[in-house]
Amino acid sequence: MASQEIEALSGALARLPGLGPRSARRAVLWLVKNREQALPALLEALDAVSETLVECATCGNVDTRNPCGICADVKRDAKAICVVEDVADVWALDRARLFQGRYHVLGGRLSALDGVGPEDLNIAGLLERVADGRVDEVVLAMNATLEGQTTAHYLAERLEPHNLRITQLAHGLPVGGELDYLDEGTLAQALRARRPV
Ligand SMILES: [Zn+2]
Repeated sequence: MASQEIEALSGALARLPGLGPRSARRAVLWLVKNREQALPALLEALDAVSETLVECATCGNVDTRNPCGICADVKRDAKAICVVEDVADVWALDRARLFQGRYHVLGGRLSALDGVGPEDLNIAGLLERVADGRVDEVVLAMNATLEGQTTAHYLAERLEPHNLRITQLAHGLPVGGELDYLDEGTLAQALRARRPV
């Protein structure tokens, strides 16, 4: 019989993606056995992250500073913005430095079914970023789902008056595919072969 505290920890871990109740119990057991080495480091890392996490006011990425490390990096191309649905997509695309520009996180996708309209996404922020004419390419990197593609079409229409090069990730992305699950080779290929909308 585990104590209430240990059950609570198992329950919290079981909610993490990729972990179910069974793997959560194994993780807790491992932490209990290795408490002297593992617990202080884990506590310290969780504490540091929970105190410093902040949403970038420019792009919507989550980092420990605002503007985020990507927006603040002067070596990156300020003329290109890659628009993605979620923070996970920024991390996926940026793992291998596939894209040298900056990002914009919408915070979701248009979905009639889930009642998500344009005003629920960070579209106004994107239009603001391109308004001064200094950006010359916007890459629409939505997931290859119906809703992702609907979102891309909508954005292309809204961006059209700004006289930009609007491109889209090349197909060859698996239909229904979410960027976060793709390997770097596939992502790199989709980016290199991006085409005008
Ligand atoms: Zn940012």
